[in-house]
Amino acid sequence: MELKYKRILLKLSGEALAGDKKFGLDFDVINPICKAIKECVDLGAQIGVVVGGGNFWRGRSSGAMDRTRADHIGMLGTAMNALAVADALEEQGVDVRVQTAIAMQQVAEPYIRNRAVRHLEKGRVVIFGCGTGNPFFSTDTAASLRAAEIEADVIFKATMADGVFDKDPNKFDDAVKYDTVTCSEVLRQNLGVMDSTTASMCKDNGLPMLVFNLKQPQNIVAAVRGEEVGTVVIP
Ligand code: UDP
Repeated sequence: MELKYKRILLKLSGEALAGDKKFGLDFDVINPICKAIKECVDLGAQIGVVVGGGNFWRGRSSGAMDRTRADHIGMLGTAMNALAVADALEEQGVDVRVQTAIAMQQVAEPYIRNRAVRHLEKGRVVIFGCGTGNPFFSTDTAASLRAAEIEADVIFKATMADGVFDKDPNKFDDAVKYDTVTCSEVLRQNLGVMDSTTASMCKDNGLPMLVFNLKQPQNIVAAVRGEEVGTVVIP
């Protein structure tokens, strides 16, 4: 079948991997996500995954600790998530490689762009751990960076909300969901969907982002097929 998107960078937040527990890993949540990823691969899509780390640690909320050190811990948290998602995908018979932006050769491949692309071309899912490898950045920014590098058609940001809203839907009953919104609007209105570094990266590199709810993991498959889900953030 004709897919709307052939090469996708899927961003999974750490929060999404923890489920209702809000901390650590919940495989009752992770397994259906991996099943949906497998369906996308079976349809012929190439999937790179950037995993967050908020289910273990967020550098910016680490109190008195030196921010750079706190961010190092945060990036190591994303590596744990990368390994967990890799394992769940392998359980389902998917070929997977983990590449990390901080070298940990006994555990994962180092991030090498050309090698990542080759894996994708061979039908392997590539999970990118350790964000950008630099403190003061987010895994959303890592998603935009890796998407640009591997020349992804789109970023899928799978979140805990149905898309991008004009205000926080958890706080305001009258929050309105956008079908489409531009990166400039995200920046101008300071919309919480992504940080400004990520919005700028997407804008400057012509990367569209689809934001949708991961509570229904099948949304990933629907999005690959080109069905309307969530909000399109136009670069
Ligand atoms: N992090 C970092 N550099 C990066 C990406 C992530 O230092 O390029 C650290 C940072 O401390 C961040 C943590 O890793 O708080 C987890 O990433 P993030 O908060 O983006 O995870 P998510 O909110 O998506 O679960």
